[in-house]
Amino acid sequence: MSTDAQQASTVLDDVRRGEILADVAALRDSFDAGTTRPLEARLAQLDALAAGLRAERPRLLKALELDLGKSRTESLITELGVVSQEIAHMRKNLRAWLRPERFGPGLMLAPASGQIRREPLGTTLIIAPWNYPVNLALAPLIGAIAGGNTAILKPSEVAPATSAALARLVRTHLDPAWVRVVEGAVEETTLLLEQRYDLIFYTGNGTVGRIVARAAAEHLTPTVLELGGKSPVFVDAGMDLETVARRIVWGKFTNAGQTCVAPDYLMAERSTLDALVPHLKDAVAAMYGRDPRRSRDYGRMVNQKHFDRVLALIDDDKAVIGGTSAADRAERYLPPTILDGVDWDDPVMGEEIFGPVLPLLAVDGPDEAIARINGGEKPLTAYVFSPRPEIEEQFIAETSSGSLAFGHTLAHLASQTMPFGGVGESGIGKYHGRASLEVFTHAKPVVKKPLRPDTLRLVTPPYRGAKRAL
Ligand code: NAD
Repeated sequence: MSTDAQQASTVLDDVRRGEILADVAALRDSFDAGTTRPLEARLAQLDALAAGLRAERPRLLKALELDLGKSRTESLITELGVVSQEIAHMRKNLRAWLRPERFGPGLMLAPASGQIRREPLGTTLIIAPWNYPVNLALAPLIGAIAGGNTAILKPSEVAPATSAALARLVRTHLDPAWVRVVEGAVEETTLLLEQRYDLIFYTGNGTVGRIVARAAAEHLTPTVLELGGKSPVFVDAGMDLETVARRIVWGKFTNAGQTCVAPDYLMAERSTLDALVPHLKDAVAAMYGRDPRRSRDYGRMVNQKHFDRVLALIDDDKAVIGGTSAADRAERYLPPTILDGVDWDDPVMGEEIFGPVLPLLAVDGPDEAIARINGGEKPLTAYVFSPRPEIEEQFIAETSSGSLAFGHTLAHLASQTMPFGGVGESGIGKYHGRASLEVFTHAKPVVKKPLRPDTLRLVTPPYRGAKRAL
């Protein structure tokens, strides 16, 4: 651990330190006592979480509006709705997914039987980010509960109203023997990371991801890192550009672009870009009106620091929609902005944008788009709109990304049947639905061999003469 981190952890007063350590110890004790193992108890906690979500709905919606200017409908779809569906899916399938999976252990052991038993890992730590602060805190928690684990949940301090609402939800509706919330920022997280867990599930940026991984290495704790990156879009010639534009605009400007799988930048041939721009303009106007600031459906940057960061990426000379003149720092309002004629070395291409700015870049076809993707870090998602199946196959075969989506943006994030996660710089590990149960359990092979017939005598010394038999 760095000296900075050590100093940070000493900033907490002794009382707060004691509370946090007591929370971790209490969860370890209840795990050791077997509280979280019975299937019925897990189902009951999932039910309690679903009930809590319903009961706390008004508070959560208000908090999301305060923190991110999220509209009620957007919050219901992308936050509370996704979590409720994830609970329902887990609830429905958990019993079957926990059934032992049989396998044949092979010739060396025959006769023998084998089964995979999914066992809980223990006490887990879930560190959540601010951009979908309900969804990205509770979706992993569903996996932790379903897997029979206890969990410390650390919401993001960057979305403080939602952090408080989540703390209340957990305190009021869940069993403190299973789940406890620790609110706070770097100091609290640093102290939490000094403790030993059986899994750390972190969602956020790669810099902190590395801090988490380093701390986890100290105790050989497995980690899931759900990170970000620049998710590209390629639009091939010959598509229905009106629909394509609508799908891209929705994916980009939902939550004011603060989505880990938002299309980060868009590549197409020059002629396709020229044809696409009017449709992009129409789609923005259709979704958010002529003045998106007045739209109830258009969100805000989470804070002024992020507002300033994204504002600095906008080159007004290249803006075909939006730009800095309509931006309002006090309101944290950045208009939907589309930049055309962007160069690969422009600042906007130097980092994950994570805001409502879409750069358009001309390429000479799919081959260049693939080469550009492969020239950068592996993205969380890549999006391709192409009428040609062979081009889709080429993207599957020649690019690497956490997931690859044809014909839409963003919506796959809500799928309970699709494992979600990154690869390389965009993350380690997958979750959602069955993948959540898998990542929050150990798949333990159990092998059983009868004493008779005593076939293992064949492989015990002395080996003299064995050659002949082999
Ligand atoms: P953030 O600032 O809220 O940080 C995430 C968490 O890390 C918070 O709980 C925070 O308290 C903690 N943290 C911050 N600094 C720390 C430190 N020095 N030591 C220990 N803990 C610390 O969120 P963020 O990182 O700004 O989130 C945005 C990033 O997350 C983007 O890169 C985005 O793409 C990525 N993201 C990924 C996914 C995914 O599912 N893969 C989802 C959402 C966001």
